[in-house]
Amino acid sequence: MKKSFVTEAINLKSYPLSDNDSIVVMFSKTKGLIRAVARGAKKPKSKLGARIQMFIANKLMLFEGKNMDTIMEAQSVNTFSKIRYDLDKLSYSMYIVEIINNFCNSEFECSSNNIYDLIFETFQSISNAKEKKDVLFASLKFQIKIMKELGWGIDFKRCAKCMDDLEDTSSFFSYLDECFYCKKCALDKINGVWINNKIVEFLDTISEAQINQKTKYDEVVTLNILEKCFDFMKKYINNLTNKKTKVFETIEKTLAI
Ligand SMILES: [Zn+2]
Repeated sequence: MKKSFVTEAINLKSYPLSDNDSIVVMFSKTKGLIRAVARGAKKPKSKLGARIQMFIANKLMLFEGKNMDTIMEAQSVNTFSKIRYDLDKLSYSMYIVEIINNFCNSEFECSSNNIYDLIFETFQSISNAKEKKDVLFASLKFQIKIMKELGWGIDFKRCAKCMDDLEDTSSFFSYLDECFYCKKCALDKINGVWINNKIVEFLDTISEAQINQKTKYDEVVTLNILEKCFDFMKKYINNLTNKKTKVFETIEKTLAI
């Protein structure tokens, strides 16, 4: 017996299935990353066609299928329309989609509801951003919060070895161990970066705050600092992605034997 179900989902990607139909990859509130068929979406006057565009959030009614679900009804909740008309907004939103694709697949246990809210709030902030600084800040918040949600969050408070608070003028972040060390414990560490304590405090504040919560840094943080922090998190996430890919390769090899 086929069943229908209702959920809210944000479109991440769509590709053609046939002359008239498309497949949409979405992040849903209840089931995480899903793929569904949008029948007739490629016909010129299809309402569904407009609603399956990238980044749009829809309330959906889906029909559960054997291999893939089918979209029966879609009603847009937010089109995040301003993302599409600005190259910065578009590229940072695409980067967010890339993170979701890499980390939120079925192999990873994740709380769909929280992650959905993170994506929604981030797209909302990027869409409404007035300048590049706002786009970067929203993307940085997403990087930090999504990693925390997936269990890969960074401890910005303590040294991973002696567990003392990070109180020195700067602390060492090891890309090898994926954690911070105080000055004393960092002596023999390589492959990392020294980060000013004010920046560590800033990152910790973001990590502790809700995604849409204003902090004391909102008005004062500069584009230059945000770019540095974004690159730091990007490198951290890329390292994890590579490790994760290797883990899956090993599992696949083991299963093949
Ligand atoms: Zn230490």
